[in-house]
Amino acid sequence: MIEFVNASKSYGDVVALADFSAVVPSGTITVLMGLSGSGKTTAVRMVNKMVIPSSGSVLIDGVDVASQDAVALRRSIGYVMQDIGLLPHKTVLDNVVLIATIAGQSRETAQQNAREMLTLVGIEASSFGRFPRQLSGGQQQRVGVARALATKPNILLMDEPFGAVDPIVREELQDELLRIQRELKLTVLFVTHDRGEALKIADQLIVLSQQGTIEQAGTPRELTKKPANDFVRKILGV
Ligand code: ADP
Ligand code: MG
Repeated sequence: MIEFVNASKSYGDVVALADFSAVVPSGTITVLMGLSGSGKTTAVRMVNKMVIPSSGSVLIDGVDVASQDAVALRRSIGYVMQDIGLLPHKTVLDNVVLIATIAGQSRETAQQNAREMLTLVGIEASSFGRFPRQLSGGQQQRVGVARALATKPNILLMDEPFGAVDPIVREELQDELLRIQRELKLTVLFVTHDRGEALKIADQLIVLSQQGTIEQAGTPRELTKKPANDFVRKILGV
């Protein structure tokens, strides 16, 4: 379980996130949905200490991340961004192996985990030796997910991971994520501004306005049936 407790972040005069409190239950998908600049990335990056709160805290299973070693923490948390940044001169397999070995796995274990995770996300063994540029955008994104899973994390942070792929591939990736999340019982914090994606994959949907103000949180069904206000109605298109 991830808990944000009055988490705030300011950059000079800019308040990126103000008093954000929310719970991401274990083994479920929580989606943060909001317009650009509403503090989604800031909130997500607080979980793996890429952003340090100006005040407030983030707890994982009751333990404040502030008290945890950043490297160890990032090992236990997968992170996927829109621009996944695969290393261009390394093969698909080596891109995934590298992350696992950096995380301390033996070369043999890393190889084994990398193959397993690539297979899990639907990359065929015949593509393991290819270079990233030889893959489609959707396949590259799958490799990004495999890489995030290579350290066997319980938590997966996904910040607009499928924003750059076309709609049909995007649907496939969403289906794969749902399957993998169930199979590995992952706790997923997922950011999107796409309402279709949010409504499809969320167990819990949190709609944010500027500075991470929670306009409404609940199941997709609850929000579409009973939007709390015009903002929620509009952003969900109901
Ligand atoms: P979102 O992911 O919802 O688009 P962000 O969390 O990236 O929102 O940003 C929230 C606000 O904080 C924006 O106004 C953004 O410009 C500002 N911000 C984010 N990161 C920084 C930074 N490193 N320095 C200055 N301002 C930032
Ligand atoms: Mg963002």
